[in-house]
Amino acid sequence: MTAKGHVLLSSSLTLGGVLIANHLGYSLPSSPMVLLTLGVGIMFGTLLPDIDEDNSYIGQKFKMFSVVFSAFVKHRTFTHYLLLPLVLFTFAFFMMEQSSLSQLLIYAIAFGMINHDIGDMLTNGGIKGFFFPLFPNTRIAILPSFLRFDTFSLVEHFFIIFFLIPINSYFVFLLLKAYGVVA
Ligand SMILES: [Zn+2]
Repeated sequence: MTAKGHVLLSSSLTLGGVLIANHLGYSLPSSPMVLLTLGVGIMFGTLLPDIDEDNSYIGQKFKMFSVVFSAFVKHRTFTHYLLLPLVLFTFAFFMMEQSSLSQLLIYAIAFGMINHDIGDMLTNGGIKGFFFPLFPNTRIAILPSFLRFDTFSLVEHFFIIFFLIPINSYFVFLLLKAYGVVA
């Protein structure tokens, strides 16, 4: 999945999650620092797994690191395993500074990484070994193969234009309503 697709899918999952939480009675985050930490952390986590590909958006931002890293780590392997965000969640959960911004940042990055993996699991390639160390050779995907698409394909662009952009706009509208910005 392209960086654009990843960002838009991740934001729709995030906004949708916030809306559901709000519907269940949780209050909306209002502190600007909390919102900023969540936004930056989730988007960073969303882009991070593709650091294993030096042509990716994040790979180009950290070119030197990505070139060296991708020489050792095959694309869509280690950085895409579920294990990585799970380790981050566990680390944040047991952190000394509970309810701190740094804890929130780690949760946000881990959440973003899972959003990234969901995106790649919508593509034809899926993620091989996603549940590593379990099933290391199994390709894991979410949709049946006839509904999956190739990265950069026309179908992915249609998915972005006709699904992700409208749903993001709708969720933003609902959130602005929930925040009382629009009536
Ligand atoms: Zn990826």
